[in-house]
Amino acid sequence: MREIERAEVVRKAMDAGVHLVSFFWCDNGGIIRGKSTHITGLETRLSSGIGVTKAMQAMGDMDELQVVEGMGPAGEFRLMPDPDTFSVLPYAPKRALMLSDLMSRSREPWEACPRDFLKRVLAKAETIGLKFQVAMEPEWYLTTKDGDEFVPCDESLDNSSVGITFAQDVVDDIIEALEAQGIGIEQYHTEVGHGQHELSIRHAPALKAADNHLIYRETVRNIAYRHGMYASFAPKPFPDQAGNGNHIHFSAWDDDEQTNLFFDSDDEYSISELAYHFIGGIMEHLPALVALTCPSMNSYRRLSPGSWSTAYTCYGPDNREAALRIPSNFWGSEMASTNLEFRPSDSSANPYIALGGVIAAGLDGVERQLQPCETQWIDVDPTRLTEEELAERDIHRLPTSLLEATQELENDTILTEALGTMLADSYIAIRRADWEIFSQQNDEFEIRNHFYKY
Ligand code: GLU
Ligand code: MG
Repeated sequence: MREIERAEVVRKAMDAGVHLVSFFWCDNGGIIRGKSTHITGLETRLSSGIGVTKAMQAMGDMDELQVVEGMGPAGEFRLMPDPDTFSVLPYAPKRALMLSDLMSRSREPWEACPRDFLKRVLAKAETIGLKFQVAMEPEWYLTTKDGDEFVPCDESLDNSSVGITFAQDVVDDIIEALEAQGIGIEQYHTEVGHGQHELSIRHAPALKAADNHLIYRETVRNIAYRHGMYASFAPKPFPDQAGNGNHIHFSAWDDDEQTNLFFDSDDEYSISELAYHFIGGIMEHLPALVALTCPSMNSYRRLSPGSWSTAYTCYGPDNREAALRIPSNFWGSEMASTNLEFRPSDSSANPYIALGGVIAAGLDGVERQLQPCETQWIDVDPTRLTEEELAERDIHRLPTSLLEATQELENDTILTEALGTMLADSYIAIRRADWEIFSQQNDEFEIRNHFYKY
């Protein structure tokens, strides 16, 4: 960080009367972790970072430490905060957060840094003239506690105005806090589940969109808590209710960010040859990709047919049961609003790893000029097709368990090479460890240990 940037961050923190600044990162299990510096040490910490044991990136969802080469209790990485992410917390005004890169002591990005993985993928895309705009679309439940039990805050229905009434004060505070942190709001509605909400935010350049996702989770969780409620981002917090998705919308723009390269007015669905190559790449890597976008044990409870979370390897126009949806664009801003939506994704994922994986898979499609399989294009509900019809169309179930997805990832050299050895090895080790722990326990244990983690 340059001296001028350091001085600016210190000035902003002092002016706001902040006493603690948290340096956050998102670990390999999608959990936001961090260490904080007192304001008196801020300037020094901004240049030297805060040391964390390398073992932290080998820790699973239950803090179970895995044996991973280069990630033992000896050795540290440094949390080096990005000055662009400095944000005074509207819900805790004496605090600020910054999102961090993980650096090695030699002042290089550490190989296992998830944020650096996304940066590397984006840099590769830029070499062929592509810059990404991304919007993540997290869903979440607003709940209260009845004794030890989390319960939905209401019994409202999909898009129901009753649900809006119940949650009004909380949602208004969330909107205000997101805007105060520079995050624009798109839409708001109540979702299918009782007490389930979707407040979508504006698209942003890819790295910023992943950063925004973490700031969003912090904001929603903290503001709900200040209202005596608990916001759950778990993929399936209530087994008998809809899951929480975190759909990823993305489009590729040219160098000067004026032209959406996914748009082609001559195509029936307004998408370009480049976008079709992207679809081709994503469909090719899809079974492995879900290990990056749906990484928790609880993710696979969500990915079931008939719940709009998607469960099959197919793509289609405005199809909410398809893994890749081609959303119809907006009247009057056709070029700007054209995008692809990746749906088998949830908020238990590390947003840098999930997004980096989706773009790396798409780029492989571009490099190899892949065309998506025509029979996997679908404008009907795949869950209504018979086994034979699905097989004829070469449409298959997405992995049905964390173990299956992890095995797919292990066999996908494009994705593991993009991640790099240390990030891929630690990520896979943690996924396997989680599978070992949770597969020996009951459903209640799984739900309880995902409910309030993200
Ligand atoms: N809740 C659904 C999911 O798990 C998505 C519903 C929708 O927004 O289409 O992804
Ligand atoms: Mg939704």
